[in-house]
Amino acid sequence: MTGEAALRHSFAEQRIAGGIGADDGYWAGLEEGEFRLPRCPDCRTWRWPAHFRCAECGSWEQGWVAVEPTGTVYSWTRTHYAFDRTKERAEDVPYVVVLAEIPAAGGARVMGTLAGTEKGLRIGAPVVGTIDPPSAKTKGYAAIRWTLGGNQ
Ligand SMILES: [Zn+2]
Repeated sequence: MTGEAALRHSFAEQRIAGGIGADDGYWAGLEEGEFRLPRCPDCRTWRWPAHFRCAECGSWEQGWVAVEPTGTVYSWTRTHYAFDRTKERAEDVPYVVVLAEIPAAGGARVMGTLAGTEKGLRIGAPVVGTIDPPSAKTKGYAAIRWTLGGNQ
């Protein structure tokens, strides 16, 4: 097998070097088709980016809660160059990466590429997330993609 067919389709088999695994529940959730974010089971504080220990109460417990992937554009940027670590996306440049703020998760901000049109792209614009299955383009990780035009 070559290319896409040879790629194992699980983040656990394609780990990007340097991670400590605190966000494994996020990637596992996306693989199962669910957008999950970490919330402390003891004090209920949302904990994103994921950490093993709660900064609020010190708990080492980590809970993953399914959240509707809807939010607003907190920030965004357009990529015009396929950098060494993102060369799999060379055919997509230029593309937009959105940092979406998720009110249902305490304002957690989650990054993903923009799908569809850029019409209406601005800070505060509503977005809805969809989950792309793992692919070579996403280094074997399932990925959230944001589309403009949610109902917020
Ligand atoms: Zn806590």
